[in-house]
Amino acid sequence: MSFVIAIDGPAGAGKSTIAKAVSKKLNSIYVDTGAMYRSIALFMIRNNVSKEDTASIAAKCKDADVTINYEGGVQNVILNGENVNGLIRTEEVGNMASVVSAVPEVRAHLLQLQRNLAASTDVVMDGRDIGTTVLPDANLKVYLTASSKVRAKRRYDELTAKGESCDIDIIEKDIIDRDHRDMTREISPLKQADDAILVDSSDMTIEEVENKIIELANAAGK
Ligand code: C5P
Repeated sequence: MSFVIAIDGPAGAGKSTIAKAVSKKLNSIYVDTGAMYRSIALFMIRNNVSKEDTASIAAKCKDADVTINYEGGVQNVILNGENVNGLIRTEEVGNMASVVSAVPEVRAHLLQLQRNLAASTDVVMDGRDIGTTVLPDANLKVYLTASSKVRAKRRYDELTAKGESCDIDIIEKDIIDRDHRDMTREISPLKQADDAILVDSSDMTIEEVENKIIELANAAGK
């Protein structure tokens, strides 16, 4: 039996940083499901599908073959044979991902891939609906959050460190809009699973969050 950790929460809460670090310490594989939704978003942008055209998003997602592989512990997302890792981290793709992920056909398209990954290997999987829908029997479920101010500040620091100019108020507004879309969509909305443990990272360092989750994993039998 594989040991499965589900980490859900809103954009910018630190899920991927934490999940990556925890998976390394626990010798598990890190599965970034947001990257899968982002690759479908990239596919739609490339095909000039508009955000409003839900019918085309539903129909066309079947032409987006998404798989993942690992190279030196890093997850590569492969879209129709092309490694798109370097193309999916933009705000444009992130916002489109939040739109396409509300379309039931898109979610169904990715669900089996996500479940298969956790079936035979120890994984730390992060996303929005991992504890509620994808892996309801996970050994440990964490709902990782932080205030929108703190999340905007982290994103701002990340972008300015890369030399990109940006406005912190616009980033916070984007985060709030994205949270709203993710939490109010009909299918698999972002919410804390009944049996998930809430971790608010607003006033915690990365290391503190990491240690907390390792502690919880150990208590859950890892
Ligand atoms: O986590 P990340 O920001 O990369 O995710 C991009 C978008 O993909 C999210 O805003 C969310 O709408 C969607 N997503 C989802 N379910 C997941 C992971 C991501 O709906 N399990």
